[in-house]
Amino acid sequence: AAAPTPSPVRVEAAPRVFTGRGGKVEIHNVSKSYGLLRVLDDVSLTLLPGSVTALIGPSGSGKSTLLRSINHLERVDSGFIAIDGEPVGYRRSGDRLHELKEPEILKRRADVGMVFQNFNLFPHLTVLDNVVEAPIVVRGRPRAEAEAEARELLARVGLADKADAWPRQLSGGQQQRVAIARALALKPKVLLFDEPTSALDPELVNEVLDVIEELARSGVTLVIVTHEIGFARRIADTVVFLEAGRIVEIGPPARVLDAPDQQRTARFLSKVL
Ligand code: ADP
Ligand code: MG
Repeated sequence: AAAPTPSPVRVEAAPRVFTGRGGKVEIHNVSKSYGLLRVLDDVSLTLLPGSVTALIGPSGSGKSTLLRSINHLERVDSGFIAIDGEPVGYRRSGDRLHELKEPEILKRRADVGMVFQNFNLFPHLTVLDNVVEAPIVVRGRPRAEAEAEARELLARVGLADKADAWPRQLSGGQQQRVAIARALALKPKVLLFDEPTSALDPELVNEVLDVIEELARSGVTLVIVTHEIGFARRIADTVVFLEAGRIVEIGPPARVLDAPDQQRTARFLSKVL
């Protein structure tokens, strides 16, 4: 785990990007297999608007698949996920669900921001263009407006002076903060972080966690997959322990992390702490 170093990043507390409240995410009996491997096995979970959930569990337990399903980057085999009552990737018609087509999927996906382990910035675009791309393309925002907002977001993640830099000129921590600004640019109702600090050198972890911690208090519904257990304890209101595609344990951090009911949770925690 990273040594606790003071963060050099100044995160501007106001104004808040989120004006409304976070979305409600309902995961209903979701299962998903790859071939014979059942990666998600009847997962049900409700994330209340503005809640902060830490998803923990061993490698291969289905954490990324679950996050990607919330975004319809994965198609679940059975069950369904709804955001604010709207089924993800589908539209209702009577009591049947019809899968949406690509343009509509993209529009809906804009409600859910996602930040990946490896930043996934567009290497051929400047920092500013990485952030304005989606608002212009997906939301049809005028460039000048999108740029003004992108600059505010970059300031918010401590990168006001990097707007014209190229991703390759930035450290991993800076790149990840650009990725966070990019995710925020669509004003998502839900923010998903998939091991956002796992690819970072230890001394760069805290500058990213500080930004995420501020977002956790902003009203957006937030889910983070992380092995940073101390961080999870600090920001999450709910911790979910996933193993072999099933929720083994769920509850407030003080219980799941410090006094788990399940042997399997305790065993996992003894390995990562
Ligand atoms: P985690 O994020 O908890 O490490 P994942 O959701 O990435 O777990 O993966 C769960 C399991 O599904 C793993 O065994 C992984 O190898 C497998 N898996 C993930 N994606 C695919 C895929 N596209 N095709 C086949 N198997 C996959
Ligand atoms: Mg994963």
